[in-house]
Amino acid sequence: MSKIVGIDLGTTNSSVAVVDSGFPIVLADNAGCRITPSVMNFSGQGVVVGEAAKRGRNAAPKSTIYSVKQYMGRRYQECTKDSRSVEYTVSAGKNGGVLIETGTAALSPEQVSAEILKHLKKIAEAALEEEVTRAVITVPAYFNDAQRQATIKAGKLAGLIIERIINEPTAAALAYGLDKLGDQSKVAVYDVGGGTFDLSILELTEGTFQVLATNGNTRLGGDDIDQRLVDHFAIKIAEAGGPTREQLTPEAAARIREAAEMTKIQLSQAESYEVLLPFLTSEFNFQHTVAREDLETLARPIIEKTRVHCRRAMEDAKLSPSELDQVILVGGQTRMPLLRRLVSEWFGCAEFEETRGNLRIGENHHHPDGPALNISQHPDEAVALGAAIQGAILTGEFKDVLLLDVTPLSLGIETFGGLMNVIIPRNSTIPVKGGETFTTAVDRQREMLVHLLQGEREKAKDNWSLGKFIIEFEEAPRGVPRIGVQFEIDINGVLHVLARDIKTGKEKVQQVRSAVDVDDADVQQMVEESVEHAFDDLAARRWIEGSLKAREIAKATIQGLKVCGEELDDNYRRAIEESVSAVQQTLKPEGESAGEYVGDWKKLQDQVKALDELTHDLAEIQMQKLMDELLGQKGLAS
Ligand code: AMP
Repeated sequence: MSKIVGIDLGTTNSSVAVVDSGFPIVLADNAGCRITPSVMNFSGQGVVVGEAAKRGRNAAPKSTIYSVKQYMGRRYQECTKDSRSVEYTVSAGKNGGVLIETGTAALSPEQVSAEILKHLKKIAEAALEEEVTRAVITVPAYFNDAQRQATIKAGKLAGLIIERIINEPTAAALAYGLDKLGDQSKVAVYDVGGGTFDLSILELTEGTFQVLATNGNTRLGGDDIDQRLVDHFAIKIAEAGGPTREQLTPEAAARIREAAEMTKIQLSQAESYEVLLPFLTSEFNFQHTVAREDLETLARPIIEKTRVHCRRAMEDAKLSPSELDQVILVGGQTRMPLLRRLVSEWFGCAEFEETRGNLRIGENHHHPDGPALNISQHPDEAVALGAAIQGAILTGEFKDVLLLDVTPLSLGIETFGGLMNVIIPRNSTIPVKGGETFTTAVDRQREMLVHLLQGEREKAKDNWSLGKFIIEFEEAPRGVPRIGVQFEIDINGVLHVLARDIKTGKEKVQQVRSAVDVDDADVQQMVEESVEHAFDDLAARRWIEGSLKAREIAKATIQGLKVCGEELDDNYRRAIEESVSAVQQTLKPEGESAGEYVGDWKKLQDQVKALDELTHDLAEIQMQKLMDELLGQKGLAS
């Protein structure tokens, strides 16, 4: 079956991706570029698309068409109100639609988009060395039916069969592997590219993403930050005795704009950047160093403008940030460190480490319960990659790959009696999260050993140990402390374990590599052993759990006899003593070998039941005594 490519047809940039041997990749053109500016130049010589067209924008502003996405499927009247101003001429078409005047021809937005799609189709065909006819194309979540239909039409004009139109945030979520989150997961996709900003809230239900709310601004993006830098440079140029804006040639103005974008991009990595623009005029060279802080001062007000849209979308979705599982960042502009910091702050995200894909648990996060801030090395490729994944799902190529991402064996911790307590069961699709609250078995315990286990056996010692760590908490009677243990396996298969004293919030984090990367033969052996020992294991678990309960009841009864023994009828007391002793006989042996000993569970169960019934009266007497004491104390006090 022929491949289905994924296409991100963006306002500023576009790209095409495909799943190749199970991996989604963005395809590069013959110059090695994986991102194509969504720019077309239509001159007498024919159509030029991409980087070459973008470069020619200053020389031929009237026939260089960009940001055409804003006109797709829209009426001319609507567009006049909210579209970005452009240098080419836009007019009303016959049916009230938009017409783009290129100087030599008038084209519909679909026709212009078709030229961009044809260019992407060629890139894909050259890279794959085969004809490409099928595609999945992405659109913003807020696109209405007319806008979607216009996109499909553009695809057809480009000679493509559009297999599916999917929402950009959904595509991004697919690329981040979020389709494997549990049902009911909620994510926010914060997408800021060159010219537009979108915030979408998605909920995963029954394996598909539903858009709960979207908000954004089609005239807000990275270009605005570039503009602030251009203005800043203009001041510096004037201060240095250079030309004023009016004196600049279009070519010089274009060089300043390019330098501004370059400065911004470099400052995402570097702390400072030196701009060098020789011969801005025949006698003026511009040289200026910009610190990251300077850029942040200029960019902050632009980024702050996105905040209100985030708030509105959250209100529409009726969600608070803590109800989100993830905030995923999409679009080239989200590489800016300041933007990441601000978004993380607004959504109360767990502190993030940039090198790790999934950032739920950090060493010292500020908001441990906040959503994860999910970033990738290539936020500007996520949408195309997601579209390619959708394409591969449609051809059936991606089924197995998706199924592979499951936990091969159960993960859990050791609990009372040396038993394994499963937190994430075997075969859970990753990423996955699970947790449980534990308490203490001994009075005045101050710490708990968290022993991480992997395997299918009931007894801790029969499973594989993945490590141990100690969590400390405040001293308290047994059963009072509450220790929350949370396991999370991220998309990379790395297990993050967090143990927290719920009372004080004190916590410990442990990262375990390769919770998923386990040798197949070992997994098979573990599963076979668990089947082979299933009956024994079950008997052991029942015995251990039953004996823990029996010991507790026996201990409480002996304590009761100590306190109220004298008030009991002799026969009754003797009967209880005998019953306790019978339980203790069955429980034997105590001490060293107790861990291995598996006694008669049924016999023990019957004896415990008998003891329980027998001690009803004792319990009542004990209760009465306690009440009397309390009332007596009150009487004394008053
Ligand atoms: P997109 O439409 O997703 O390709 O995003 C394009 C926007 O991202 C443009 O404004 C770029 O200047 C900006 N951008 C790309 N790379 C970076 C970077 N490393 N740091 C900051 N902004 C960037």
